[in-house]
Amino acid sequence: LEITMQVAVVTGPGSVELRAQPSPVMGRDDVRVRVAACGLCTMERRLYTGEKRIYPVAPGHEATGTVVEVGDGVAGLAGAPNVGDHVIMDLLTRCGSCRACRRGSSAVCRHPQGSRLADQTISMGAGLSDELVVPARSSWKVGPIDPAYAAMGEPLACVVHSLRRGGFLPGDHVGVVGGGYMGRLHLALCLASGAASVGVVDVSEDRRRDAAAAGSTWVAAPPDAPGPDHDLVFVTVGGPGALELGIDMCAEGGTVVVYGAFPKDLLASVGADHVHHGELSIVGSFSHEPRDWREAAGLLASRALEPSLEPLVTSRFSLDDVGKAFEIATTRPVYRVIVGTGVA
Ligand SMILES: [Zn+2]
Ligand SMILES: [Zn+2]
Repeated sequence: LEITMQVAVVTGPGSVELRAQPSPVMGRDDVRVRVAACGLCTMERRLYTGEKRIYPVAPGHEATGTVVEVGDGVAGLAGAPNVGDHVIMDLLTRCGSCRACRRGSSAVCRHPQGSRLADQTISMGAGLSDELVVPARSSWKVGPIDPAYAAMGEPLACVVHSLRRGGFLPGDHVGVVGGGYMGRLHLALCLASGAASVGVVDVSEDRRRDAAAAGSTWVAAPPDAPGPDHDLVFVTVGGPGALELGIDMCAEGGTVVVYGAFPKDLLASVGADHVHHGELSIVGSFSHEPRDWREAAGLLASRALEPSLEPLVTSRFSLDDVGKAFEIATTRPVYRVIVGTGVA
């Protein structure tokens, strides 16, 4: 019996197709998941536009679905998913052996083991598909929520990590530089976690309006950004002046989290004396660790963030329409485009 599945493969700039592949093989400690939805993140968009050229490639790392098979090694294990459970999946590989992993910082594992589909297509998640096999330890139960929200589990785990890196505390006054999708998830999580205030800086009037509608305490365009009275500033967009702006907004004793991706060769000017006398902390936040997934899954299961997540679902497409989904996601301003059988 030849069991096959469908997986979206980007074959070149502007070109994506569904390919049939044999179902992935299960190991003893794995679960098989019927994929319900997957978000199109920056990496997926860069592969499609040709900004990043690695072809053919099966992207999709923001996936969610339902467990349909559990390996013998983990069947019935307390806390592990069972058949029928709705899960979010950590598709980042962590080697466990490198210096970062040994120190407990597996978010920055330096030995990512890339994988391939049966036909040797490079896999960068392969979540734009019918089916995934993942280690049970990398799947987290979220309950029967809308798969479009569950597809936000991976970015939410990144934001949980970012708040932890920044040492967020209830009562903090927070500034968010950038009102895009990741900025909005920071806004939502800080508001839900007891921030005294959360404001958003963005160049786009539409994004400022949307952030205000989403409960932002204040919004500002960069030239009018408020002064240094924020305990915590999240810089969620990378570009000239963004880190400097975050530092200008940060109060004495506060922390600036460099969350957004910056161009590799871009340098920022930091007033060393300001950092010294103000006891500022500047920390990076890149991805996520297993404990961040546990919190993100808990937040999704509680459904507390849903009113903040709904406006971030820009559009929903079935897997058959993955080409249209990529087209929309790369040609107009979007928060998240979600693809999958469970959302359209
Ligand atoms: Zn992502
Ligand atoms: Zn590692």
